Amino acid sequence: MAGEKLYEGKAKIIYTTDDSAVLLTYFKDDATAFNAQKRGQIADKGKINCAISTYLFQQLEAAGVPTHWLETTSDREMRVKALTIIPLEVVVRNIAAGSLCRQTGLPLGQVINPPLVEFYYKNDDLGDPLLTPDRMRLMALATEEQIETLRRQAEHINQILTAFFASCAITLVDFKLEFGLDADQRILLGDEISPDTCRLWDQSTQDETQRVMDKDRFRQDLGQVEQAYQRVLERVMAQASQH
Ligand code: UDP
Repeated sequence: MAGEKLYEGKAKIIYTTDDSAVLLTYFKDDATAFNAQKRGQIADKGKINCAISTYLFQQLEAAGVPTHWLETTSDREMRVKALTIIPLEVVVRNIAAGSLCRQTGLPLGQVINPPLVEFYYKNDDLGDPLLTPDRMRLMALATEEQIETLRRQAEHINQILTAFFASCAITLVDFKLEFGLDADQRILLGDEISPDTCRLWDQSTQDETQRVMDKDRFRQDLGQVEQAYQRVLERVMAQASQH
């Protein structure tokens, strides 16, 4: 049972529950891009992202990655462990795209091996700036040990997700993770993993527009946004049914 609304974000609403260690996440259809300068809706996105995140969190848990996921209770709602969110966005990149191309001039599609793990400051007012290790130390956003754990977890999660998406004929280009601390100061993966937070390219076409199966369709007005999200869900579920 949902209690009070604790927080409403761009894509999700967080409610309290009768258990102070548990929160309820509600997935909305609202979509934003460019630090919320562009706003819209993607039909059924909440349901699709809830289903994809549920499956991926379960796979990660099974592979030994601690996550906040407890139970998915409706087509848009999951019960999660209450976390103190670490204000970092941990981005993993296997292929150059997005801000990496804009900021470095690397060509779109260049393979990055070993993958890049980057830390951004989760702060909308500042536009989520890229951090350096020295800046993280200066700002005391996390301890050295925590940062090392985040890096290791992100690399491990990347290995699992890259292999899983490849089995769906999808290339995992890059993605963003958020982590938090539970009551025992353990680091758990939080937030969601979905076409909102990952770049996913369809391996069945090389066409630069056609292959995009993620929020870049919304960001860049490529059309067929709902259909692309739906196709990701179908492929994930087709794989899921084989295991
Ligand atoms: N990302 C995200 N939330 C953010 C910023 C980035 O989920 O606030 C994801 C984005 O979807 C992509 C990856 O993180 O999969 C890397 O994004 P990038 O830094 O290239 O930023 P963008 O080009 O989207 O501005």
